[in-house]
Amino acid sequence: MAFTLPKLDYDYAALEPHIDARTMEIHHTKHHQGYVNKLNDAIAGSELENKSIEDILKEVSRLSVAVRNNGGGHYNHSLFWKIMTPGGGGMPAGDLTDVIKLNFGTFDQFREQFSNAALTRFGSGWAWLVQSGNKLIVTSTPNQDNPLMDVADVQGNPLLGIDVWEHAYYLKYQNRRNEYVDAFWNVINWTAVGNRLK
Ligand code: MN
Repeated sequence: MAFTLPKLDYDYAALEPHIDARTMEIHHTKHHQGYVNKLNDAIAGSELENKSIEDILKEVSRLSVAVRNNGGGHYNHSLFWKIMTPGGGGMPAGDLTDVIKLNFGTFDQFREQFSNAALTRFGSGWAWLVQSGNKLIVTSTPNQDNPLMDVADVQGNPLLGIDVWEHAYYLKYQNRRNEYVDAFWNVINWTAVGNRLK
Protein backbone atom coordinates (compact mmCIF):
# COMPACT_ATOMS: atom_id res chain seq x y z
CA MET A 1 0.00 0.00 0.00
CA ALA A 2 1.48 3.29 -1.11
CA PHE A 3 1.29 6.31 1.17
CA THR A 4 -1.08 9.06 0.03
CA LEU A 5 -1.43 12.80 0.58
CA PRO A 6 -4.11 13.39 3.25
CA LYS A 7 -6.86 15.89 2.52
CA LEU A 8 -7.06 18.95 4.73
CA ASP A 9 -10.09 19.43 7.00
CA TYR A 10 -10.27 23.11 5.95
CA ASP A 11 -9.66 25.33 2.91
CA TYR A 12 -6.23 26.73 2.07
CA ALA A 13 -7.51 30.21 2.98
CA ALA A 14 -9.03 29.12 6.29
CA LEU A 15 -6.00 29.99 8.42
CA GLU A 16 -5.78 33.57 7.07
CA PRO A 17 -4.49 36.02 8.11
CA HIS A 18 -2.09 33.97 10.24
CA ILE A 19 -1.01 31.57 7.51
CA ASP A 20 -1.76 32.69 3.96
CA ALA A 21 -3.63 30.62 1.37
CA ARG A 22 -0.81 30.54 -1.19
CA THR A 23 1.66 29.19 1.35
CA MET A 24 -0.84 26.54 2.47
CA GLU A 25 -1.55 25.45 -1.09
CA ILE A 26 2.10 25.16 -2.12
CA HIS A 27 3.03 23.55 1.18
CA HIS A 28 0.34 20.88 0.84
CA THR A 29 0.25 20.21 -2.92
CA LYS A 30 3.96 20.59 -3.69
CA HIS A 31 6.05 20.04 -0.56
CA HIS A 32 3.99 17.40 1.22
CA GLN A 33 3.09 15.67 -2.05
CA GLY A 34 6.79 15.58 -2.86
CA TYR A 35 7.62 13.81 0.42
CA VAL A 36 4.84 11.28 -0.23
CA ASN A 37 6.06 10.56 -3.77
CA LYS A 38 9.71 10.22 -2.77
CA LEU A 39 8.82 8.04 0.24
CA ASN A 40 6.85 5.70 -2.02
CA ASP A 41 9.77 5.56 -4.46
CA ALA A 42 12.19 4.82 -1.63
CA ILE A 43 10.20 1.90 -0.22
CA ALA A 44 8.92 0.44 -3.51
CA GLY A 45 9.34 -3.34 -3.59
CA SER A 46 10.59 -3.59 0.01
CA GLU A 47 9.01 -4.96 3.21
CA LEU A 48 8.49 -1.33 4.30
CA GLU A 49 5.49 -1.13 1.98
CA ASN A 50 3.51 -3.17 4.51
CA LYS A 51 4.47 -1.08 7.56
CA SER A 52 2.85 1.97 9.15
CA ILE A 53 4.73 5.24 8.96
CA GLU A 54 5.18 5.11 12.76
CA ASP A 55 6.79 1.64 12.57
CA ILE A 56 9.09 2.80 9.77
CA LEU A 57 10.24 5.88 11.69
CA LYS A 58 11.04 4.04 14.91
CA GLU A 59 13.72 1.97 13.13
CA VAL A 60 14.87 4.71 10.80
CA SER A 61 18.53 4.53 11.89
CA ARG A 62 18.98 1.36 9.83
CA LEU A 63 17.07 2.69 6.80
CA SER A 64 18.07 4.96 3.91
CA VAL A 65 18.44 8.74 4.10
CA ALA A 66 15.58 8.99 1.57
CA VAL A 67 13.24 7.10 3.91
CA ARG A 68 14.35 9.22 6.88
CA ASN A 69 13.82 12.53 5.09
CA ASN A 70 10.66 11.73 3.17
CA GLY A 71 9.06 9.45 5.76
CA GLY A 72 9.66 12.16 8.35
CA GLY A 73 8.32 14.76 5.95
CA HIS A 74 5.13 12.77 5.38
CA TYR A 75 4.50 12.13 9.08
CA ASN A 76 5.35 15.67 10.21
CA HIS A 77 3.11 17.41 7.68
CA SER A 78 0.22 15.00 8.28
CA LEU A 79 0.41 15.95 11.97
CA PHE A 80 0.88 19.65 11.23
CA TRP A 81 -2.37 19.94 9.21
CA LYS A 82 -4.29 18.24 12.02
CA ILE A 83 -3.03 20.35 14.90
CA MET A 84 -4.13 23.57 13.17
CA THR A 85 -7.69 24.79 12.64
CA PRO A 86 -9.53 27.97 11.68
CA GLY A 87 -10.70 29.66 14.85
CA GLY A 88 -7.97 27.91 16.83
CA GLY A 89 -5.63 29.25 19.46
CA GLY A 90 -6.59 30.27 22.96
CA MET A 91 -5.81 27.88 25.77
CA PRO A 92 -5.62 24.08 25.97
CA ALA A 93 -8.53 22.32 27.68
CA GLY A 94 -9.10 19.19 29.73
CA ASP A 95 -6.24 16.95 30.87
CA LEU A 96 -3.74 18.82 28.72
CA THR A 97 -4.17 21.99 30.81
CA ASP A 98 -3.17 20.13 33.98
CA VAL A 99 -0.30 18.25 32.35
CA ILE A 100 1.15 21.47 30.92
CA LYS A 101 0.96 23.17 34.33
CA LEU A 102 2.57 20.19 36.01
CA ASN A 103 5.49 20.18 33.56
CA PHE A 104 6.02 23.86 32.81
CA GLY A 105 4.49 25.76 35.73
CA THR A 106 2.20 27.95 33.65
CA PHE A 107 0.88 27.98 30.09
CA ASP A 108 2.88 31.14 29.41
CA GLN A 109 6.10 29.45 30.51
CA PHE A 110 5.34 26.54 28.17
CA ARG A 111 4.57 28.96 25.35
CA GLU A 112 7.87 30.77 25.87
CA GLN A 113 9.87 27.53 25.83
CA PHE A 114 8.13 26.27 22.69
CA SER A 115 8.49 29.56 20.81
CA ASN A 116 12.12 29.74 21.84
CA ALA A 117 12.75 26.22 20.50
CA ALA A 118 11.13 27.26 17.20
CA LEU A 119 13.19 30.45 16.96
CA THR A 120 16.53 28.91 17.87
CA ARG A 121 16.36 25.84 15.61
CA PHE A 122 19.11 26.76 13.15
CA GLY A 123 18.21 26.31 9.50
CA SER A 124 15.34 23.97 8.65
CA GLY A 125 13.49 21.80 11.13
CA TRP A 126 10.68 21.51 13.63
CA ALA A 127 9.96 22.41 17.26
CA TRP A 128 7.93 19.94 19.29
CA LEU A 129 5.95 19.31 22.43
CA VAL A 130 6.67 15.65 23.18
CA GLN A 131 5.12 13.23 25.64
CA SER A 132 8.06 11.17 26.84
CA GLY A 133 7.09 8.62 29.49
CA ASN A 134 4.97 10.60 31.93
CA LYS A 135 6.68 13.91 31.14
CA LEU A 136 6.10 16.62 28.59
CA ILE A 137 9.26 18.01 26.98
CA VAL A 138 9.87 20.83 24.50
CA THR A 139 12.51 20.00 21.91
CA SER A 140 13.42 20.58 18.27
CA THR A 141 14.77 18.47 15.43
CA PRO A 142 16.69 19.25 12.22
CA ASN A 143 15.36 18.69 8.69
CA GLN A 144 12.36 16.30 8.73
CA ASP A 145 13.44 14.34 11.81
CA ASN A 146 10.92 13.89 14.61
CA PRO A 147 10.60 12.43 18.12
CA LEU A 148 9.31 9.06 16.86
CA MET A 149 12.70 8.41 15.25
CA ASP A 150 15.26 6.28 17.06
CA VAL A 151 17.85 8.91 16.07
CA ALA A 152 16.08 11.78 17.92
CA ASP A 153 17.67 13.36 21.02
CA VAL A 154 14.27 13.39 22.75
CA GLN A 155 12.07 10.44 21.83
CA GLY A 156 8.38 10.06 22.52
CA ASN A 157 4.90 10.85 21.30
CA PRO A 158 4.74 14.17 19.42
CA LEU A 159 1.72 16.20 20.60
CA LEU A 160 2.35 19.51 18.85
CA GLY A 161 4.82 20.53 16.16
CA ILE A 162 5.64 23.66 14.20
CA ASP A 163 7.35 23.58 10.83
CA VAL A 164 10.12 26.20 10.79
CA TRP A 165 11.39 25.50 7.27
CA GLU A 166 11.34 28.77 5.33
CA HIS A 167 8.80 27.26 2.90
CA ALA A 168 6.29 27.35 5.80
CA TYR A 169 6.38 31.14 6.16
CA TYR A 170 8.61 32.94 3.66
CA LEU A 171 5.92 34.22 1.24
CA LYS A 172 4.13 36.13 4.00
CA TYR A 173 6.79 36.70 6.64
CA GLN A 174 10.06 36.56 4.65
CA ASN A 175 12.87 36.36 7.23
CA ARG A 176 10.64 37.20 10.20
CA ARG A 177 10.29 33.74 11.68
CA ASN A 178 9.31 35.33 14.99
CA GLU A 179 6.12 36.79 13.49
CA TYR A 180 5.20 33.41 12.01
CA VAL A 181 5.77 31.67 15.34
CA ASP A 182 3.62 34.28 17.12
CA ALA A 183 0.87 33.81 14.50
CA PHE A 184 0.96 30.01 14.89
CA TRP A 185 -0.47 30.34 18.42
CA ASN A 186 -3.70 31.66 16.85
CA VAL A 187 -4.34 28.54 14.77
CA ILE A 188 -3.48 25.71 17.17
CA ASN A 189 -6.22 23.09 17.44
CA TRP A 190 -5.96 22.33 21.16
CA THR A 191 -8.66 19.66 20.97
CA ALA A 192 -6.59 17.74 18.42
CA VAL A 193 -3.41 18.23 20.49
CA GLY A 194 -5.15 17.04 23.68
CA ASN A 195 -6.49 13.96 21.89
CA ARG A 196 -2.91 12.90 21.14
CA LEU A 197 -2.12 12.47 24.86
CA LYS A 198 -1.67 8.80 25.76
MN1 MN B 1 6.99 21.94 5.48
